[in-house]
Amino acid sequence: MSELRWHPLLEEWVITATHRQERTFFPPADYCPLCATKPGGFPTEVAEPSYDVVILQNKFPSLQPEPPEPAVQGHPLTPVMPARGICEVLLYSPQHDATLVSLGPQTVYKIVQVWRDRYEELGALPEIEYVFIFENRGPEVGVTLSHPHGQIYAFPYVPPVVQRELASTHRYWYRERRCLLCDLLHRELAEGVRLVSSFGTWQAFVPFYARYPQEVHIVPERHITSLLELTAAEEQDLARAVYDVVARYDLLFDAPMPYMMVLHQKPTDGGSYTYYHFHVEFYPLLRAPGKLKYRAGCESGAGTFITDALPEQWAAQLRALVPRGPA
Ligand SMILES: [Zn+2]
Ligand SMILES: [Zn+2]
Ligand SMILES: [Zn+2]
Repeated sequence: MSELRWHPLLEEWVITATHRQERTFFPPADYCPLCATKPGGFPTEVAEPSYDVVILQNKFPSLQPEPPEPAVQGHPLTPVMPARGICEVLLYSPQHDATLVSLGPQTVYKIVQVWRDRYEELGALPEIEYVFIFENRGPEVGVTLSHPHGQIYAFPYVPPVVQRELASTHRYWYRERRCLLCDLLHRELAEGVRLVSSFGTWQAFVPFYARYPQEVHIVPERHITSLLELTAAEEQDLARAVYDVVARYDLLFDAPMPYMMVLHQKPTDGGSYTYYHFHVEFYPLLRAPGKLKYRAGCESGAGTFITDALPEQWAAQLRALVPRGPA
């Protein structure tokens, strides 16, 4: 059972995907479906004895290329739509216990190249209006397989968070004839107190308006709208920047930090969106060792985040850490 149901009060789609209840839940390491298939071993989702960076179709997809018809009747107040789209899993490495940090910047560079390829290929499909690339890491974020991987959701619509960013940046562009994120980045560079690290055109900083503890955004100084505009050198530098942020997170409490990483780039619905500015956002979920930051009543019900420290303090903490090179 799978469909899109319209939430008329918030004006956004909700995906029902009941088949996801059968998802594999933390199998023992010997039976990980994302490991390579060992000779004579049980067949995993990768029928090879080893692999590099690999794309798989999600076995329990929220969106499908050939979705079933909705199982319920729509209504003018609450329309329904087939859950059309594509969900892919991006395996970072055959090593079950690896992280982006243990794999090193060269593997992250390969991942960046796959991001670009998938954005281009999925975005070219006529039914796909948005290619959303992200990683959930850690059981605290609801990850059910610990094998290192990211995900790609190709949506038949532009999701609401991106719509809000498009609306704000468009209004600013119309009024000021400048890019909002370019101006925000210039302010961060001028003030300096929230900067964390920089690699070529990429600046990593805790934004003035951070909502999550230790939230970091990676933004290019060059105004680009998507991965497709990156030079090879800029892809290398982005990989180093992503590696650096995760390495600092893991040093912070001396344990793997649970986080969500999301890429925000322009939609693939044919619009030009020259006013939008590509960036990567990290939302860590720990405010102290073992203490989770919940999206509690005020965050979930009012849409207002409350943080218990200042972005300037978080930036100073992250800046002071010295990531070691990969082993
Ligand atoms: Zn595995
Ligand atoms: Zn810009
Ligand atoms: Zn964003």
